[in-house]
Amino acid sequence: ADDAALLAEWDGIDVDADPEIIPPVLAIVGRPNVGKSTLVNRIIGRREAVVEDVPGVTRDRVSYQAEWNGTEFTLVDTGGWEHDAKGIHARVAEQAERAVEVADAVAFVVDATVGITATDEAVVKMLRRSGKPVILVANKVDDMALEAEAAQLWGLGFDYPYPVSAIHGRGTGDFLDRVIEVLPEESEYGHLLNLEGPRRIALVGRPNVGKSSLLNKLAGENRVVVDETAGTTRDPVDEYIELGGKPWRFVDTAGIRRRQHMASGSDYYASLRTQSALDKAEVAVVLLEASEVLSEQDVRIIQMVLDSGRAMVLAFNKWDLMEDDRRFYLEREIDLDLQHVTWAPRVNLSAKTGWHKDRLVPALETALESWDTRIPTGKLNSFLGELVAAHPHPVRGGKQPRILFATQVSTQPPKFVLFTTGFLEPGYRRFIQRRLRETFGFEGTPIEIGMRVRE
Ligand code: GDP
Ligand code: GDP
Repeated sequence: ADDAALLAEWDGIDVDADPEIIPPVLAIVGRPNVGKSTLVNRIIGRREAVVEDVPGVTRDRVSYQAEWNGTEFTLVDTGGWEHDAKGIHARVAEQAERAVEVADAVAFVVDATVGITATDEAVVKMLRRSGKPVILVANKVDDMALEAEAAQLWGLGFDYPYPVSAIHGRGTGDFLDRVIEVLPEESEYGHLLNLEGPRRIALVGRPNVGKSSLLNKLAGENRVVVDETAGTTRDPVDEYIELGGKPWRFVDTAGIRRRQHMASGSDYYASLRTQSALDKAEVAVVLLEASEVLSEQDVRIIQMVLDSGRAMVLAFNKWDLMEDDRRFYLEREIDLDLQHVTWAPRVNLSAKTGWHKDRLVPALETALESWDTRIPTGKLNSFLGELVAAHPHPVRGGKQPRILFATQVSTQPPKFVLFTTGFLEPGYRRFIQRRLRETFGFEGTPIEIGMRVRE
């Protein structure tokens, strides 16, 4: 019955038509004035300065569709430079880093007539760390005479510098040929190009666990004003809070703040609110009370998150009230009641004192990254090939189901389908699931594995 249900569930999914093919992403990075916008305009074939933002894209990252010799790709540009107190080096490297995160390859643009500056060096360091393929573009090589300047950039360790004149188009053909060579066919990072604005968080937990206190603590002076968040339609029940340098959207916060006026402790309304927040969110922070015994209601709320398929972070609040022997019992409760969600990052904090509140963002980022993860089909199948070779499915009644092929049919959360010659036992499916997590991480996200049996 379990298998039949699983199959039915996957029946509607057309696994052949990949709904999520995103053209590979090329990030254009470099310090101000090296000619990035000019190069972008040259590539996408427009003459005007490009200002047309994709709605909702965070303001320091803009993307465009481009094409060269019949191959499509996405260009990501870092614009809107702010020369603020933080210092230009750090700013440039930071913004470039955000573009590089979503990119499959990077074009690093340098002004050949100026050479390498300290700001460039900061970007170079970041690029090395990223491990992504980098194409070095020596721009403003408007004529032959300037090629010598470009050659001096060999020293950066990025292979051959492509001498280009973005303004006149000189050398851009060779550069684009190289781009197409370097970009993968299937984008591995493109889905991280979050086109919907700030990530959406549901802060859930039973009454009195400290949701509204935590919200206040986080908001502090970081509440984002409406118009500052480009391209977002502001929902009055949500709150935008800047954490770790970027805005986050806490959904349904009005529901948290309104609680005082409702029949206090009403389970029914609490679970309605939780459900509506989860529906709107991408990741849930489940707030638990470290200083009190985990309740059935806590476990039920976690189950609601699991059912919603959202990413999840567990936050243990009121740590300021913790006593030593309570810690021991808490560990035991976690082992007992939360063993099915060991993959969720855990943060111990105090909404009252603010202790460890900064640990929330890294946990959220990890969870969302996992939730967004897409394992390329080739990688997935070579992983499974090795796994199955070393640990074949047990023979049952003279038969041994084989896995023919696997594919990830969706992200958010990651869902996989295995094509098999027979039903895989639940134990074997759990084994595969465990190994998938061991190999690919998926910290903070549920994952699902479905089956398609070829009779
Ligand atoms: P960005 O800040 O990196 O986006 O740089 P821009 O594209 O705005 O270019 C900065 C300046 O450099 C502008 O005045 C451009 O006209 C100029 N520029 C860009 N590419 C070239 C080029 O290939 N040759 C020359 N001579 N100037 C260029
Ligand atoms: P909500 O119902 O989940 O929104 O919970 P509240 O934020 O209203 O908090 C319920 C009670 O717990 C209030 O009296 C808060 O002051 C208290 N509280 C919240 N967080 C903490 C904490 O970290 N430490 C302590 N000692 N008390 C807290």
